[in-house]
Amino acid sequence: MAAMEAVTLAGTPKALDDEAIQSLVATLRGSVLRAGDDGYEDARALWNGFHDRRPAVIVRASGTADVIDAVNFARDHELLLAVKGGGHSLPGYSSCDGGMMLDLSAMNAVLVDPGERVARVQGGALLADLDRETQAFGLATPSGNISHTGIAGLTLGGGFGHLRRKYGLAIDNLRAVDIVTADGVLRRASESEHHDLFWAVRGGGGNFGVVTSFEFELHEVGPLIFGATVAYDRRDASSVLRQWRDFNVTAPDEVTAMIAFGPAPQVPPIPENLQGVNALTLLGAHCGDPEAGERETKPLRSFATPLADLSGPLPYRILQSVGDAFEPPGPSYYGTGVLLEKLTDQAIDIVLQNTETAVLPGPSAWCRVWHLGGAMGRVDPAATAFAGRKAEYMVDIMPRWDDPDTAEPHIEWARSFARELDRYSLDEYYVNLRDTRESETDGAARAFGPNFERLARIKAKYDPMNLFRLNQNVRPNGR
Ligand SMILES: Cc1cc2nc3c(=O)[nH]c(=O)nc-3n(C[C@H](O)[C@H](O)[C@H](O)COP(=O)(O)OP(=O)(O)OC[C@H]3O[C@@H](n4cnc5c(N)ncnc54)[C@H](O)[C@@H]3O)c2cc1C
Repeated sequence: MAAMEAVTLAGTPKALDDEAIQSLVATLRGSVLRAGDDGYEDARALWNGFHDRRPAVIVRASGTADVIDAVNFARDHELLLAVKGGGHSLPGYSSCDGGMMLDLSAMNAVLVDPGERVARVQGGALLADLDRETQAFGLATPSGNISHTGIAGLTLGGGFGHLRRKYGLAIDNLRAVDIVTADGVLRRASESEHHDLFWAVRGGGGNFGVVTSFEFELHEVGPLIFGATVAYDRRDASSVLRQWRDFNVTAPDEVTAMIAFGPAPQVPPIPENLQGVNALTLLGAHCGDPEAGERETKPLRSFATPLADLSGPLPYRILQSVGDAFEPPGPSYYGTGVLLEKLTDQAIDIVLQNTETAVLPGPSAWCRVWHLGGAMGRVDPAATAFAGRKAEYMVDIMPRWDDPDTAEPHIEWARSFARELDRYSLDEYYVNLRDTRESETDGAARAFGPNFERLARIKAKYDPMNLFRLNQNVRPNGR
């Protein structure tokens, strides 16, 4: 076969000769896919349908050896490289046009040691894979709220889930990673080995290499916990938010909640009479004993007369997947968000004004206010690369649309909403829930705040050519 057109790290076109690709094919245990090959279309698809990218080659890695060879190949040919874990990056960082996609989805093993309370998780596993294996032993580790998200991208950025107030972020429960760095070397990073790298991967995103395995500490959770899910009328919104804010001051760490704004999704388990109604929905959980959970979440259910109250004991695994249908793969999405030290009256007003029915750009324009704090807030902001520890709240804004002609109003709604909140937010933001590609004011220096310079030095040490650049990119030495 003739040489194929590819794209370099610098964004320039390059001819990639077939011999080189054939020698890669011969080495791998996994496969190499090119346009026209069976499986190419499925492999290149991302959760966010807005990003329709066509890599020149897709390497579907079967194990660490394949990852090493793919990294060496991309580096030696100076190919633009995208690493795909769960494929949920909002800006679509896990694919690229013309470069190499290193797809880890076949590397999804999870090994649990119940005695040691540790889970070893491969770099392509999803949250559902982790919860399935750990819950068999009544154990869990903090991750996120939607079970088809990838463990890798979620953890490398921080990892905010239902257990964040009791046990911290996903990164706060990470004991070690195995990571293939840009020189093609597999390194183990932990408190005692490559400590600098271990610090950087806890919040610094995919900047430092390809994580082939994560080692997480586990905690006793479930299998039954108490979920508090209550829909309130928008007319009560201002009062509900203020009562919630008061409740949160003394809320036990076991209780975690967020409030979602926007038209209720038109899928079960939303009751039919509420589907499409612009209500506010409190989504809370208590991760301890379900009876204590029912007692301690009671105030969350009585801020006003609910439109619906779906609260009750439920398996932790159901809690982890109950929202899956609200954010399915395929449609177009945009995502942005801010971290707030306090939920001030001004921030409440901005949220309410921007979620009035008249200003929403479509029937699937949502925003969520997350309560943070607890264990995740008690970690020193310099202890890991994730710097936003002072935040007590996060607002994430995520519109979705099907008609490409409506992309612009959806994106502009989200951006202007976030700009208004930015006046009251921390400078730092959560890299996993903010698409910053077209912003003039955002970037790694802002996202990582006081931790940025240290990250830039570590980047220069482990990835001087910036091979891993499709992320909230930290340039080597910050340049
Ligand atoms: C539906 C949905 C729900 C979400 N819910 C939550 C939530 O509850 N809590 C939360 O904290 N966040 C949440 N997020 C944000 C989520 O954390 C990020 O989108 C995250 O990047 C997803 O990881 P992924 O592996 O699926 O993504 P990918 O798109 O595969 O990767 C994201 C980034 O990580 C890099 N990467 C992926 N795998 C590896 C690896 N093995 N080694 C090195 N780099 C790698 C990629 O190159 C890319 O830069 C959600 C996102 C979506 C779309």
